[in-house]
Amino acid sequence: MKQEIFVLIEHLQGRVTDISYLMLAAARGITEKLDGNVVALLLGHNQRALANDLAADRILYFDHPDLAHFTPGAYQRVIGSLIEENKPRLALFGDTSIGVEVAGPLSARLNLPLVSYCKSLRVENNEIKFTSQICGGKLMAEGELPSPTALVTMIPGAYKAEQGRSVTPGVVVQASVPQLDKHPVRFLQYIEPETGDVDITKEALLISVGRGIQSKDNLEIIQELADALGGVVCASRPVVDQGWLPATRLVGKSGKRVKPKVYLALGISGATEHVEAITDSEVIIAVNTDPLAPIFNLAKYGATVDLLDLVPALTEAVKQATVKA
Ligand SMILES: Cc1cc2nc3c(=O)[nH]c(=O)nc-3n(C[C@H](O)[C@H](O)[C@H](O)COP(=O)(O)OP(=O)(O)OC[C@H]3O[C@@H](n4cnc5c(N)ncnc54)[C@H](O)[C@@H]3O)c2cc1C
Repeated sequence: MKQEIFVLIEHLQGRVTDISYLMLAAARGITEKLDGNVVALLLGHNQRALANDLAADRILYFDHPDLAHFTPGAYQRVIGSLIEENKPRLALFGDTSIGVEVAGPLSARLNLPLVSYCKSLRVENNEIKFTSQICGGKLMAEGELPSPTALVTMIPGAYKAEQGRSVTPGVVVQASVPQLDKHPVRFLQYIEPETGDVDITKEALLISVGRGIQSKDNLEIIQELADALGGVVCASRPVVDQGWLPATRLVGKSGKRVKPKVYLALGISGATEHVEAITDSEVIIAVNTDPLAPIFNLAKYGATVDLLDLVPALTEAVKQATVKA
């Protein structure tokens, strides 16, 4: 019998999010090796068109006014019933605010194993293996996905969104929506986060600082480097949590997803919650005194030096080069 891999399609403001395409790519990688089908689960209201470029064998479309916006109760109800009835081999969710609010409670309610922070899936000897990035990105855990059904939350990093798009999408099937009870969590309003003085999602050169800068005073030399290079300063969460930079400059799971030409990471370890938001950068350069810092797994170039020594020297070199030019 064909094994089914369910993929929960996330969408926001009328657009399918990248993590959905990455999961479709991961699922296809499995079904190309094992006899199986990729089944995309699309929940919404009057949003069937979102199925148009999903690289799945089948798209189950659940249309209901209560599904127009994500709410945990309604999603858990629809997907929980589906998993109970169909017992897929895998159900993939984004390791996102939406995905964890569905996968975690369903794992408990249906008594199914959940693998979190999964970066990639592969087939070995007819078994499905996973690699998960755990402990804030410091460790990679490998294992076999428990059968018969496992839930997985996925992070970006191993697949490209293009691999999960298709010009010839699968068959769209209008699925029946189970009775949706009134749930205490309701959608009231969508509020776009403030962009602040600059919109870091649109900047080509980002100078990003982490806890490694050690004190607020050291931001001055970072700003000088940014000015010399024509870039914008942003940060990891500890810097923002301490109030050294505003939340509009936060990069990561709880901040912004960025896609600059160059992302210069200074004193940033490379925790999952940070790096998941920088994978679309064209070039990542990391400066960190710890040669084992996970950020080096992602960086194209790196230096294991003290940023407080490097930054003033680099600013000076940039200024000299600018004068000569
Ligand atoms: C639900 C949740 C959401 C989160 N959201 C985010 C988010 O949106 N964004 C985010 O960034 N984090 C987020 N985090 C936190 C995340 O897990 C990490 O704790 C955080 O990213 C670590 O920041 P850091 O790399 O600056 O600090 P650390 O992990 O402490 O790393 C500091 C690095 O600086 C290096 N260093 C120290 N001194 C120097 C020096 N002088 N020169 C060079 N290198 C030096 C060290 O070797 C170290 O690698 C979230 C966590 C959770 C649980």
